[in-house]
Amino acid sequence: MNIVEVENLRVHFSRRRGVTVRAVDGVSFTIAPGETLGLAGESGSGKSTVARALLRITDPAGGRVRIGGRDIAGLRGASLKAFRRQMQMVYQDPYDSLDPRMKIGATVEEALLVKGVPAAERPGRVRELLERVGLPAAFAVRYPHELSGGQRQRVSIARALGVDPAVIACDEAVSALDVSVRAQILNLLKDIQEDSGLAYLFISHDLSTMRFAADRVAIMYLGRLVEIGTRDQVFGAPRHPYTQALLAAVPVPGASRAARRVRLAGEPPSPAHPPTGCAFHPRCPLAQDVCRTTRPELAVKQGGQLAACHLASEPAREEAAP
Ligand code: SF4
Ligand code: MG
Repeated sequence: MNIVEVENLRVHFSRRRGVTVRAVDGVSFTIAPGETLGLAGESGSGKSTVARALLRITDPAGGRVRIGGRDIAGLRGASLKAFRRQMQMVYQDPYDSLDPRMKIGATVEEALLVKGVPAAERPGRVRELLERVGLPAAFAVRYPHELSGGQRQRVSIARALGVDPAVIACDEAVSALDVSVRAQILNLLKDIQEDSGLAYLFISHDLSTMRFAADRVAIMYLGRLVEIGTRDQVFGAPRHPYTQALLAAVPVPGASRAARRVRLAGEPPSPAHPPTGCAFHPRCPLAQDVCRTTRPELAVKQGGQLAACHLASEPAREEAAP
């Protein structure tokens, strides 16, 4: 059974003058236990909003989210609290999420309190958790400012693990770290996953990180998924021109070089005023008339992944070719 099931998720924000921003506009995906689903795309594409909706930090305008088989929409009070123990978030900047006046040990212990671990067991569990994330137990008496960025991120991970969740959303969790530290934290996340069967929703705009971390990858553009498939499908033979453009813009080790050289021009349009038809059409060098009028839906393409593009070839058409 999938631990996360998201169906047609929509998150709208109201802006001045009655403008509705469709920050997330009909997104569907699943995550299996022990799996990492990557969510990639430029900033402002709605990636973090998806995570916030899954955590019930933001209320969706529609669609369905099931975590551990449970529809989270109706949860209130004690059942919402119990649900929050299943899903945790690790943010980009631990400075924002760690209380600067709280010692590391107390921060991790707070998670154990939420889980209802008896007082007598907590110091031992704090030590175990710090060691699990590669920090000396002696760090329990330090403050966040006495730690490096990588060490602080390890504390965030220890705190998330403290409630024994089934899913962790990592929102640009390694993006602010130096390359070498980044690799250490990514390896730590993988080790923890292998031991525990945790699922990750791994959000990053950085495709090299994504290629390392994700089992499957979903590419988001202006609130919608435009491509989703295994890491090898999406990086080896991307079908959507937007994915191709992202991959062409930065060298990703091991990714397809055969991808069409689609240049990504300009900034993404405002989600308050999305283009008609395919939202990518103003930036797409392959756009045809149909792209301006008709929105492409996600469909299985050659290679097996899903892509939302009128032109990306479909399997039947490819097979018919000599
Ligand atoms: Fe480009 Fe058209 Fe495909 Fe959109 S549907 S990505 S505009 S070719
Ligand atoms: Mg974000």
